[in-house]
Amino acid sequence: MIAVLKPGATEQQIQSLADWIRSQGLTVHLSTGRYQTIVGLVGDTTRIDEDLLGSLSYVETVKRISEPFKSANRKFHPDNSVIRAGDTLVGDGHFAVIAGPCSVESEEQVAEIARAVKQSGATMLRGGAFKPRTSPYDFQGLKADGIEILLHAKRETGLPIVSEIMNANHLPMFEEVDVIQVGARNMQNFELLKELGKTQKTILLKRGLAATLKEFLMSAEYIMAGGNENVILCERGIRTFETYTRNTLDLSAVPVLHELSHLPVIVDPSHATGSAKLVEPMALAAAAAGADGLMIEVHNDPVHAMCDGAQSLTPEQFDKTMRHVRLVLDAITDIEH
Ligand code: PEP
Ligand code: MN
Repeated sequence: MIAVLKPGATEQQIQSLADWIRSQGLTVHLSTGRYQTIVGLVGDTTRIDEDLLGSLSYVETVKRISEPFKSANRKFHPDNSVIRAGDTLVGDGHFAVIAGPCSVESEEQVAEIARAVKQSGATMLRGGAFKPRTSPYDFQGLKADGIEILLHAKRETGLPIVSEIMNANHLPMFEEVDVIQVGARNMQNFELLKELGKTQKTILLKRGLAATLKEFLMSAEYIMAGGNENVILCERGIRTFETYTRNTLDLSAVPVLHELSHLPVIVDPSHATGSAKLVEPMALAAAAAGADGLMIEVHNDPVHAMCDGAQSLTPEQFDKTMRHVRLVLDAITDIEH
Protein backbone atom coordinates (compact mmCIF):
# COMPACT_ATOMS: atom_id res chain seq x y z
CA MET A 1 0.00 0.00 0.00
CA ILE A 2 1.22 3.54 -0.69
CA ALA A 3 0.16 6.90 0.65
CA VAL A 4 0.96 9.75 -1.71
CA LEU A 5 1.43 12.89 0.38
CA LYS A 6 0.35 16.40 -0.56
CA PRO A 7 3.24 18.62 -1.72
CA GLY A 8 3.23 20.68 1.51
CA ALA A 9 3.48 17.74 3.94
CA THR A 10 5.90 18.67 6.74
CA GLU A 11 8.76 16.59 8.07
CA GLN A 12 6.91 16.26 11.37
CA GLN A 13 3.76 14.95 9.67
CA ILE A 14 5.81 12.43 7.69
CA GLN A 15 7.58 11.22 10.82
CA SER A 16 4.38 10.84 12.84
CA LEU A 17 2.80 8.88 9.98
CA ALA A 18 5.91 6.66 9.76
CA ASP A 19 5.79 6.05 13.54
CA TRP A 20 2.13 5.10 13.34
CA ILE A 21 2.79 2.67 10.44
CA ARG A 22 5.61 1.02 12.41
CA SER A 23 3.32 0.73 15.44
CA GLN A 24 1.02 -1.37 13.21
CA GLY A 25 3.83 -3.91 12.73
CA LEU A 26 4.67 -2.72 9.21
CA THR A 27 7.85 -1.44 7.60
CA VAL A 28 8.00 2.06 6.15
CA HIS A 29 9.51 2.80 2.76
CA LEU A 30 9.94 6.51 2.19
CA SER A 31 10.46 7.92 -1.27
CA THR A 32 11.19 11.62 -1.30
CA GLY A 33 10.85 12.54 -4.93
CA ARG A 34 11.38 15.77 -6.76
CA TYR A 35 7.71 16.70 -6.49
CA GLN A 36 6.10 14.32 -4.07
CA THR A 37 6.75 12.17 -1.04
CA ILE A 38 5.43 8.63 -1.21
CA VAL A 39 5.12 6.55 1.92
CA GLY A 40 5.19 2.82 1.27
CA LEU A 41 3.65 0.42 3.78
CA VAL A 42 5.32 -2.99 3.58
CA GLY A 43 3.96 -6.09 5.27
CA ASP A 44 0.48 -7.36 5.99
CA THR A 45 -1.64 -4.29 5.26
CA THR A 46 -5.00 -6.09 5.38
CA ARG A 47 -5.83 -4.50 8.75
CA ILE A 48 -5.02 -0.95 7.60
CA ASP A 49 -8.08 1.22 7.05
CA GLU A 50 -7.51 2.93 3.70
CA ASP A 51 -10.20 5.54 4.34
CA LEU A 52 -8.71 6.48 7.69
CA LEU A 53 -5.29 6.95 6.11
CA GLY A 54 -6.82 8.91 3.22
CA SER A 55 -8.64 11.24 5.60
CA LEU A 56 -5.39 12.68 7.02
CA SER A 57 -5.07 16.33 5.95
CA TYR A 58 -1.63 15.85 4.35
CA VAL A 59 -2.43 12.63 2.46
CA GLU A 60 -3.46 13.03 -1.18
CA THR A 61 -4.28 9.44 -2.15
CA VAL A 62 -3.94 5.91 -0.83
CA LYS A 63 -3.48 2.96 -3.18
CA ARG A 64 -3.07 -0.75 -2.66
CA ILE A 65 -0.16 -2.24 -4.63
CA SER A 66 -1.28 -5.45 -6.25
CA GLU A 67 2.16 -6.64 -7.37
CA PRO A 68 3.94 -8.92 -4.89
CA PHE A 69 7.14 -6.88 -5.15
CA LYS A 70 6.94 -3.73 -3.07
CA SER A 71 10.34 -2.11 -2.42
CA ALA A 72 11.43 -2.79 -6.01
CA ASN A 73 8.15 -1.39 -7.36
CA ARG A 74 8.17 1.89 -9.24
CA LYS A 75 4.88 2.80 -7.57
CA PHE A 76 6.82 2.99 -4.30
CA HIS A 77 9.58 5.07 -5.83
CA PRO A 78 8.57 6.87 -9.04
CA ASP A 79 12.06 8.32 -9.72
CA ASN A 80 14.79 6.11 -11.17
CA SER A 81 17.16 4.83 -8.50
CA VAL A 82 20.80 5.76 -8.78
CA ILE A 83 22.99 3.07 -7.26
CA ARG A 84 26.54 3.66 -6.04
CA ALA A 85 29.24 1.23 -7.16
CA GLY A 86 32.57 2.23 -5.64
CA ASP A 87 33.01 5.84 -6.71
CA THR A 88 30.77 5.47 -9.76
CA LEU A 89 27.00 5.71 -10.15
CA VAL A 90 24.58 3.52 -12.08
CA GLY A 91 21.09 4.47 -13.27
CA ASP A 92 19.09 7.55 -14.30
CA GLY A 93 21.52 8.58 -17.03
CA HIS A 94 24.67 7.15 -15.41
CA PHE A 95 25.69 4.44 -17.88
CA ALA A 96 27.87 1.67 -16.43
CA VAL A 97 30.23 -0.49 -18.48
CA ILE A 98 31.51 -3.49 -16.57
CA ALA A 99 34.25 -5.29 -18.47
CA GLY A 100 36.77 -8.00 -17.75
CA PRO A 101 37.41 -11.69 -18.01
CA CYS A 102 34.93 -14.41 -17.14
CA SER A 103 37.40 -15.79 -14.58
CA VAL A 104 40.39 -14.35 -12.84
CA GLU A 105 43.28 -16.48 -14.09
CA SER A 106 46.45 -14.66 -13.06
CA GLU A 107 47.73 -11.32 -11.84
CA GLU A 108 49.23 -10.49 -15.26
CA GLN A 109 46.04 -11.42 -17.12
CA VAL A 110 43.81 -9.21 -14.94
CA ALA A 111 46.29 -6.32 -14.87
CA GLU A 112 46.60 -6.27 -18.66
CA ILE A 113 42.83 -6.48 -19.25
CA ALA A 114 42.08 -3.92 -16.54
CA ARG A 115 44.42 -1.33 -18.04
CA ALA A 116 43.01 -1.90 -21.53
CA VAL A 117 39.32 -1.74 -20.64
CA LYS A 118 39.87 1.36 -18.52
CA GLN A 119 41.54 3.06 -21.51
CA SER A 120 38.51 2.21 -23.63
CA GLY A 121 36.13 3.74 -21.09
CA ALA A 122 34.94 0.85 -18.91
CA THR A 123 33.66 2.13 -15.56
CA MET A 124 34.12 -1.13 -13.62
CA LEU A 125 36.26 -4.24 -13.78
CA ARG A 126 34.73 -7.71 -13.55
CA GLY A 127 36.28 -11.10 -12.90
CA GLY A 128 34.99 -14.34 -11.41
CA ALA A 129 36.93 -15.76 -8.48
CA PHE A 130 34.22 -18.29 -7.57
CA LYS A 131 32.88 -19.83 -10.76
CA PRO A 132 29.51 -21.62 -10.98
CA ARG A 133 30.49 -24.27 -13.56
CA THR A 134 28.09 -26.85 -14.99
CA SER A 135 30.74 -29.55 -14.56
CA PRO A 136 32.49 -30.14 -11.23
CA TYR A 137 35.60 -31.10 -13.25
CA ASP A 138 35.90 -27.65 -14.86
CA PHE A 139 37.98 -24.78 -13.45
CA GLN A 140 36.19 -23.53 -10.33
CA GLY A 141 38.05 -20.23 -9.96
CA LEU A 142 41.03 -18.99 -7.94
CA LYS A 143 38.74 -18.21 -4.97
CA ALA A 144 40.38 -15.99 -2.30
CA ASP A 145 43.50 -15.55 -4.45
CA GLY A 146 41.27 -14.38 -7.29
CA ILE A 147 39.72 -11.69 -5.09
CA GLU A 148 43.22 -10.54 -4.07
CA ILE A 149 44.21 -10.22 -7.74
CA LEU A 150 41.11 -8.11 -8.44
CA LEU A 151 41.84 -5.89 -5.44
CA HIS A 152 45.35 -5.37 -6.75
CA ALA A 153 43.97 -4.31 -10.14
CA LYS A 154 41.51 -2.00 -8.38
CA ARG A 155 44.36 -0.29 -6.53
CA GLU A 156 46.33 0.03 -9.75
CA THR A 157 43.58 1.33 -12.04
CA GLY A 158 41.10 2.86 -9.62
CA LEU A 159 38.30 0.83 -11.26
CA PRO A 160 35.63 -0.49 -8.88
CA ILE A 161 35.45 -4.29 -9.03
CA VAL A 162 32.59 -6.72 -9.54
CA SER A 163 32.79 -10.40 -8.58
CA GLU A 164 30.36 -13.25 -8.05
CA ILE A 165 29.50 -14.74 -4.67
CA MET A 166 28.10 -18.26 -4.33
CA ASN A 167 28.08 -18.77 -0.58
CA ALA A 168 27.13 -16.26 2.11
CA ASN A 169 29.94 -17.63 4.29
CA HIS A 170 32.34 -16.03 1.82
CA LEU A 171 31.06 -12.51 2.55
CA PRO A 172 34.11 -11.50 4.63
CA MET A 173 36.26 -12.05 1.52
CA PHE A 174 34.09 -9.54 -0.37
CA GLU A 175 34.59 -6.67 2.07
CA GLU A 176 36.53 -4.54 -0.45
CA VAL A 177 34.67 -5.80 -3.52
CA ASP A 178 32.54 -2.87 -4.70
CA VAL A 179 29.76 -4.85 -6.37
CA ILE A 180 28.79 -8.39 -5.46
CA GLN A 181 27.32 -10.36 -8.33
CA VAL A 182 24.63 -12.96 -7.80
CA GLY A 183 24.79 -15.17 -10.87
CA ALA A 184 21.89 -16.55 -12.87
CA ARG A 185 22.16 -19.94 -11.16
CA ASN A 186 21.78 -18.36 -7.72
CA MET A 187 19.00 -15.90 -8.53
CA GLN A 188 16.64 -17.98 -6.42
CA ASN A 189 19.10 -18.95 -3.70
CA PHE A 190 16.87 -17.22 -1.18
CA GLU A 191 19.12 -17.81 1.83
CA LEU A 192 21.99 -16.13 -0.03
CA LEU A 193 19.72 -13.23 -1.05
CA LYS A 194 18.55 -12.78 2.55
CA GLU A 195 22.13 -12.63 3.81
CA LEU A 196 23.01 -10.03 1.15
CA GLY A 197 19.93 -8.09 2.23
CA LYS A 198 21.49 -7.65 5.66
CA THR A 199 24.49 -5.86 4.16
CA GLN A 200 24.70 -2.50 2.44
CA LYS A 201 26.82 -3.85 -0.41
CA THR A 202 25.80 -3.08 -3.99
CA ILE A 203 24.37 -6.25 -5.52
CA LEU A 204 24.33 -7.03 -9.24
CA LEU A 205 21.50 -9.53 -9.57
CA LYS A 206 21.46 -11.56 -12.78
CA ARG A 207 18.25 -12.97 -14.18
CA GLY A 208 17.86 -16.73 -13.77
CA LEU A 209 18.07 -18.96 -16.84
CA ALA A 210 14.34 -19.64 -16.76
CA ALA A 211 13.06 -16.83 -14.56
CA THR A 212 10.09 -14.68 -15.42
CA LEU A 213 10.47 -10.95 -14.88
CA LYS A 214 8.16 -11.21 -11.88
CA GLU A 215 10.36 -13.90 -10.33
CA PHE A 216 13.41 -11.75 -11.10
CA LEU A 217 11.87 -8.79 -9.28
CA MET A 218 10.84 -11.02 -6.37
CA SER A 219 14.50 -12.00 -5.98
CA ALA A 220 15.46 -8.32 -5.89
CA GLU A 221 12.72 -7.93 -3.29
CA TYR A 222 14.38 -10.57 -1.07
CA ILE A 223 17.51 -8.39 -0.93
CA MET A 224 15.58 -5.15 -0.46
CA ALA A 225 13.24 -6.57 2.18
CA GLY A 226 16.29 -7.04 4.41
CA GLY A 227 17.07 -3.33 4.14
CA ASN A 228 19.58 -3.31 1.28
CA GLU A 229 18.19 -1.17 -1.53
CA ASN A 230 21.44 -1.18 -3.54
CA VAL A 231 20.36 -3.53 -6.29
CA ILE A 232 21.21 -3.45 -10.01
CA LEU A 233 19.31 -5.85 -12.29
CA CYS A 234 21.09 -7.64 -15.14
CA GLU A 235 19.38 -9.26 -18.12
CA ARG A 236 21.70 -12.00 -19.42
CA GLY A 237 19.51 -14.03 -21.72
CA ILE A 238 17.10 -16.85 -21.00
CA ARG A 239 16.75 -20.46 -22.12
CA THR A 240 14.54 -20.96 -25.14
CA PHE A 241 14.26 -23.64 -27.84
CA GLU A 242 16.91 -21.81 -29.89
CA THR A 243 20.30 -23.49 -29.85
CA TYR A 244 22.24 -21.28 -32.26
CA THR A 245 22.93 -18.80 -29.47
CA ARG A 246 23.88 -19.81 -25.91
CA ASN A 247 20.76 -18.07 -24.58
CA THR A 248 18.14 -15.77 -26.06
CA LEU A 249 18.61 -12.13 -25.13
CA ASP A 250 15.26 -10.84 -23.88
CA LEU A 251 15.72 -7.17 -24.70
CA SER A 252 12.12 -6.35 -23.95
CA ALA A 253 13.08 -7.02 -20.33
CA VAL A 254 14.75 -3.59 -20.30
CA PRO A 255 11.68 -1.40 -20.91
CA VAL A 256 9.42 -3.79 -18.98
CA LEU A 257 11.67 -3.75 -15.90
CA HIS A 258 11.96 0.03 -16.19
CA GLU A 259 8.20 0.28 -16.18
CA LEU A 260 7.74 -2.05 -13.22
CA SER A 261 10.72 -1.02 -11.14
CA HIS A 262 12.91 1.96 -10.28
CA LEU A 263 16.08 -0.15 -10.17
CA PRO A 264 18.77 0.24 -12.86
CA VAL A 265 18.82 -2.46 -15.54
CA ILE A 266 22.00 -3.48 -17.32
CA VAL A 267 22.48 -6.04 -20.11
CA ASP A 268 25.12 -8.77 -20.48
CA PRO A 269 25.37 -9.53 -24.22
CA SER A 270 28.26 -11.98 -23.61
CA HIS A 271 26.35 -14.66 -21.70
CA ALA A 272 23.19 -13.83 -23.64
CA THR A 273 24.75 -14.86 -26.95
CA GLY A 274 27.80 -16.99 -26.17
CA SER A 275 29.52 -15.64 -29.27
CA ALA A 276 32.01 -12.77 -29.54
CA LYS A 277 30.66 -11.72 -32.96
CA LEU A 278 27.18 -11.18 -31.52
CA VAL A 279 28.30 -9.12 -28.55
CA GLU A 280 28.57 -5.77 -30.31
CA PRO A 281 25.20 -5.84 -32.13
CA MET A 282 23.43 -6.86 -28.93
CA ALA A 283 25.33 -4.27 -26.87
CA LEU A 284 24.23 -1.56 -29.31
CA ALA A 285 20.65 -2.84 -29.21
CA ALA A 286 20.71 -2.85 -25.40
CA ALA A 287 21.96 0.74 -25.30
CA ALA A 288 19.24 1.74 -27.78
CA ALA A 289 16.60 -0.05 -25.68
CA GLY A 290 17.47 2.17 -22.73
CA ALA A 291 19.70 -0.11 -20.64
CA ASP A 292 21.56 1.60 -17.80
CA GLY A 293 24.76 -0.22 -18.63
CA LEU A 294 26.49 -3.26 -20.06
CA MET A 295 28.52 -6.15 -18.75
CA ILE A 296 30.96 -7.46 -21.36
CA GLU A 297 33.52 -10.24 -21.08
CA VAL A 298 36.96 -9.20 -22.33
CA HIS A 299 40.03 -11.45 -22.48
CA ASN A 300 43.57 -10.69 -23.67
CA ASP A 301 43.85 -14.21 -25.12
CA PRO A 302 40.32 -15.56 -25.69
CA VAL A 303 41.50 -18.77 -27.36
CA HIS A 304 43.28 -19.84 -24.19
CA ALA A 305 40.69 -18.53 -21.71
CA MET A 306 39.88 -20.90 -18.83
CA CYS A 307 36.19 -20.08 -19.26
CA ASP A 308 33.92 -18.46 -21.87
CA GLY A 309 36.63 -17.70 -24.43
CA ALA A 310 34.20 -18.00 -27.36
CA GLN A 311 32.13 -15.07 -26.13
CA SER A 312 35.04 -12.91 -24.94
CA LEU A 313 36.08 -9.82 -26.88
CA THR A 314 39.73 -8.93 -27.27
CA PRO A 315 40.67 -5.52 -25.84
CA GLU A 316 40.78 -4.16 -29.43
CA GLN A 317 37.28 -5.46 -30.20
CA PHE A 318 36.05 -4.04 -26.90
CA ASP A 319 37.52 -0.64 -27.74
CA LYS A 320 35.66 -0.57 -31.06
CA THR A 321 32.42 -1.70 -29.40
CA MET A 322 32.75 1.06 -26.81
CA ARG A 323 33.13 3.70 -29.51
CA HIS A 324 29.99 2.43 -31.22
CA VAL A 325 28.04 2.20 -27.94
CA ARG A 326 28.86 5.86 -27.30
CA LEU A 327 27.43 6.79 -30.70
CA VAL A 328 24.16 5.01 -29.84
CA LEU A 329 24.02 6.65 -26.40
CA ASP A 330 24.53 10.08 -27.98
CA ALA A 331 21.82 9.34 -30.55
CA ILE A 332 19.24 8.30 -27.97
CA THR A 333 20.09 11.31 -25.81
CA ASP A 334 19.23 13.43 -28.86
CA ILE A 335 15.92 11.57 -29.26
CA GLU A 336 15.05 12.10 -25.60
CA HIS A 337 15.66 15.86 -25.78
C1 PEP B 1 29.31 -14.64 -15.23
O1 PEP B 1 28.96 -13.46 -15.22
O2 PEP B 1 30.49 -15.01 -15.36
C2 PEP B 1 28.28 -15.69 -15.14
C3 PEP B 1 28.57 -16.91 -14.69
O3 PEP B 1 27.10 -15.27 -15.59
P1 PEP B 1 25.63 -15.94 -15.47
O4 PEP B 1 25.40 -16.13 -14.00
O5 PEP B 1 24.76 -14.91 -16.09
O6 PEP B 1 25.66 -17.22 -16.24
MN1 MN C 1 31.36 -16.05 -18.08
